[in-house]
Amino acid sequence: MAEKLNSQQLMEMEAKYGAHNYHPLPVVFAKGKGVKVWDVEGNEYYDFLSAYSAVNQGHCHPKIVEAMVQQAHELTLSSRAFYNDRLGPFEKFITEFFGYDKVLPMNTGAEADETALKLARRWGVVKKGIPNDEVMIVCCEGNFHGRTITIITMSNDPDSYANYGPLTPGFIRIPYNDVKALEEVLEKHGKKIAGFLVEPIQGEAGVYVPDEGYLKKTYDLCKKHNVLFIADEVQSGIARTGRMLACDHEDVRPDVLVLGKAVSGGVFPVSVVLADDDIMLNIKPGEHGSTFGGNPVACKVAEAALKVIKDENLEERAEYLGKLFREEMRKIQSPMIELVRGKGLLNAVIIKPTNGKQAWDVCLKMKEFGVLAKPTHGHIIRFAPPLVITEEELRDAIERIKKAILSFE
Ligand SMILES: *Cc1c(COP(=O)(O)O)cnc(C)c1O
Repeated sequence: MAEKLNSQQLMEMEAKYGAHNYHPLPVVFAKGKGVKVWDVEGNEYYDFLSAYSAVNQGHCHPKIVEAMVQQAHELTLSSRAFYNDRLGPFEKFITEFFGYDKVLPMNTGAEADETALKLARRWGVVKKGIPNDEVMIVCCEGNFHGRTITIITMSNDPDSYANYGPLTPGFIRIPYNDVKALEEVLEKHGKKIAGFLVEPIQGEAGVYVPDEGYLKKTYDLCKKHNVLFIADEVQSGIARTGRMLACDHEDVRPDVLVLGKAVSGGVFPVSVVLADDDIMLNIKPGEHGSTFGGNPVACKVAEAALKVIKDENLEERAEYLGKLFREEMRKIQSPMIELVRGKGLLNAVIIKPTNGKQAWDVCLKMKEFGVLAKPTHGHIIRFAPPLVITEEELRDAIERIKKAILSFE
């Protein structure tokens, strides 16, 4: 038996042997169940990050884990050199679930976004007739679409793109939540633009919810200029904001839909791109792929994860509990709380530094009170518990958050 390492030792081990590309809050998860996680010492916490909204269905959901374990005993990987008996049924299931002709399965969110960009560029060249060297994609300021070289090209956060050498040409960045900006760029360059890539709510940027009507208006503009509306719902999708997709709030059906994270309930990396035939079938055999994309375990896990969302009514739950969360948080009388915003159970609190205490200190204090959340961009704390949280648990967590914030006075 190896000796059991404590949290301190495990954190030192990561610092010594792991790349330093993250700065985690000092807590070492050893177990998770539903909305709760436990550290190595057995301390219990509410998880209010949900692995960046990957575990919307709750940690270690028994039905999803069961699907994974069962399939792992049968077949884990065929590669796409051959067929496997899980891919077809999954493709049928997920295209019917979201209402698209076709799906292209990948593994991570970044890969799915890359796939969406390739699809849009290909469609732009083949269907719209844009010269290959001149195809452009419009993206938004404050975006987060992942970490590949092409994707960081779209970012305006120097932490993401600086000093990584030459970036990828072919992008135009416009302000987020600015219909006029899209209209102008489409009027000027529309003939060379293949797609508009947008997060219906910007998660990593700090839960920026655009004005009502933004999605519908930008979608209509895209239609007017024959440009694909590409929604990155990797974080906002899968019931997180109170509807299956954040685009559903405005009855917008994206031309290209990108999903990841909770599409597998955080059990296994699965991402997908959904589109109709006139877009999807422009990529032919051998022109794109992934060794693990569409593997049988991923197929079973994602199907189980999506069924859980429906079976447990997690959309309604996120909608109702999200309202309650924002209401209760706005009642907290503290100079540190500048603003509470969000949709469904994707929420953020803007922290005003007080007596030298920052959002990071608030998160450390909340940890002492048994609630885990992480700051983004220094002054914003995202609150996104698994959607299976009960009202009682939510009220208990809010009480703890309140005590933590008020303890600074
Ligand atoms: C997390 C995220 C991604 C990237 O997903 P990975 O699985 O980390 O590559 C892309 N888009 C959005 C909106 C995200 O939140």
